[in-house]
Amino acid sequence: MSVRVVARIRPLLHAEIEKDAIIEPTGDSAVVKIPNPRCQSETFSFQFNSVYDRETTQAKIFEEEIAPNVKSLFKGYDVTLFAYGVTGSGKTHTMRGGKSLNDRGVIPRLLSSIYRRARKIEKDTEGETGVEVVMSYYEIYNDKVFDLFEPPEKRTPAGLSIRDNNGKTVVVGLTERPCTTLKEFEHLYDEANVNRSTSATKLNAHSSRSHAILCVKIIQTTGGETRVSTASAIDLAGSEDNRRTDNNKERLVESASINKSLFVLAQCVEAISKKQARIPYRESKMTRILSLGQNNGIAIMILNLAPVRSYHLDTLSSLNFANRAKKIEVNEIENQPFFREEQSTKAKLGVSHAPSVESISMFRQ
Ligand code: ADP
Ligand code: MG
Repeated sequence: MSVRVVARIRPLLHAEIEKDAIIEPTGDSAVVKIPNPRCQSETFSFQFNSVYDRETTQAKIFEEEIAPNVKSLFKGYDVTLFAYGVTGSGKTHTMRGGKSLNDRGVIPRLLSSIYRRARKIEKDTEGETGVEVVMSYYEIYNDKVFDLFEPPEKRTPAGLSIRDNNGKTVVVGLTERPCTTLKEFEHLYDEANVNRSTSATKLNAHSSRSHAILCVKIIQTTGGETRVSTASAIDLAGSEDNRRTDNNKERLVESASINKSLFVLAQCVEAISKKQARIPYRESKMTRILSLGQNNGIAIMILNLAPVRSYHLDTLSSLNFANRAKKIEVNEIENQPFFREEQSTKAKLGVSHAPSVESISMFRQ
């Protein structure tokens, strides 16, 4: 499995003003620079496979990062796409996007591209190869799996169970819906997204605290032979430290499970990018269901960044997390004392409650 980690900086929103911007364009398409929160004259630099600045259009992200993989998908490779970042940094915008044609996110664009290719294959083979598209859509909240095709009132509190089936992890009873056209897909996707927001209200939890996982299975049949590959798109739970704003018991449980799964995800991405033999994918439900790193395939992590001061600490924490996965960092300054001096800063950066936090070395690898 190969992995790319790319950053996307969102534009300033209406209420945000230029003087509060902390991430400025660098002129380098692979570097993000951000000030040290404790010493504004110092800058941290992070390098990624690619960095997309504030003006980047939905079309560009799709064309550069996702479209090139559609061919591989049809060759039988799995493609897994993550949006990682603080709540409000643009994950849902990147994945789902808006309703207008220009605003559409990578998911509807990907599906559009899949259908186009499917029709082409069917035409080129004069119908000998048939392509079916089947979708499932679920969320993982507090480490429990909920089917987004199921109305929230029908959910069982324990969620769906998962089990191993011939080395593959399956979610028991998960709805799979065939969708033969883009229109059909969009209809089902919208329907499931409504369930997502109503369930969030019901659970008294914002949807930013669950991972939304869309799986699109592509089944190509030629004669008696079948080839199946899966495109997965995951709108991850917000990576911020929820405890900072509200520290009741429910939030603590949520925070712990969000941080655990994001932590395992980062470990998996790191292991994949370093081509390690052992990928710890079994250690969280999300990575286990996705069998992350177990198949030949392509993973792309889009790190969404809000370039404003009010997100400073959480953004830095996100950058460190993604950077750990990427394993490339340009260290401009010696910054270890930053943490020795004030341990509590670590908590503010939102990682102190992650499991085995000591193994996350901030700023330094
Ligand atoms: P998240 O899902 O990470 O919480 P959202 O995708 O909901 O964040 O984005 C937060 C706000 O910023 C939304 O109002 C969204 O429309 C806006 N936004 C995010 N990214 C962009 C972008 N690239 N261009 C324009 N608006 C954006
Ligand atoms: Mg969102």
